[in-house]
Amino acid sequence: MALLLFVQIVLFSLIARAPNLDAWGKEGHYMVCKIAEQYLTAEASELVTELLPADAGGDLASVCSWADEVRFRFRWSAPLHYANTPGVCNFNYARDCHNSHGEKDMCVVGAINNYTAQLQTYGDPSSPYDLSESLMFLAHFMGDVHQPLHVGFADDEGGNTIIVHWYRRKTNLHHVWDVNIIETAMKDFYNNDLNTMIEAINMNITDEWSDEVNQWETCRGESITCPNKYASESIQLACDYAYKDVDQDSTLEDDYFFSRYPIVEKRIAQAGMRLATLLNGLFSSKSAAKNI
Ligand SMILES: [Zn+2]
Repeated sequence: MALLLFVQIVLFSLIARAPNLDAWGKEGHYMVCKIAEQYLTAEASELVTELLPADAGGDLASVCSWADEVRFRFRWSAPLHYANTPGVCNFNYARDCHNSHGEKDMCVVGAINNYTAQLQTYGDPSSPYDLSESLMFLAHFMGDVHQPLHVGFADDEGGNTIIVHWYRRKTNLHHVWDVNIIETAMKDFYNNDLNTMIEAINMNITDEWSDEVNQWETCRGESITCPNKYASESIQLACDYAYKDVDQDSTLEDDYFFSRYPIVEKRIAQAGMRLATLLNGLFSSKSAAKNI
């Protein structure tokens, strides 16, 4: 009995600790992919469904957190969920996109470029990639790069080492942005219903933010996606909102929540719209070519 209890405690503490390492929690990623699904063209939607593993049931959102589930099995993938800067409020690919061994391109921005390039081989019979995995990684990392503290400072591991109280609960700043802000918004505004929150974000996309949406989707030149820009926005938001007025042992409550949750909602919307634009760009022409 004592052993069983011990095993349960160990298991529980493993499960309880896991979210600290995630980017957006499950809810954040789910919302990003649900929003993206709504903006896919018919062709892109068809090809996404074709690429998804059978257990996804044709629903991209259901596998949007897959990359977090495999990060311990695929240890090399752990640094691909984030990027760190040396304590400055800007992102520089050459300086910041590497893992802890200094291996180049091993950060969230490099990962988006890499999985985009892999998916560009769709339809080529000699493609060496598992495109189902490429798609699940890409959908996840497009969410991660929009979580402001996933492009945070190296010294505090994107807020992971900054211990704070979220109202009365002890947590860390990173986790506040992954999970707590979303949870509190869901409880306070959306009757704890994720779909209601998604609907509200969708309404903002077509209403309050409609003037900005075009700008969200454009990249300089001919680029199909621009993760450098998304990462630059994130570190700027991390400085202006996430880290601002927060110290070790700060208690964060209404003031912080009400001024920060609009940022979280907008980043989820941007991630979703940009993921849809990217998949549409990748797959619409492929599908057209396939039909000729
Ligand atoms: Zn992640």
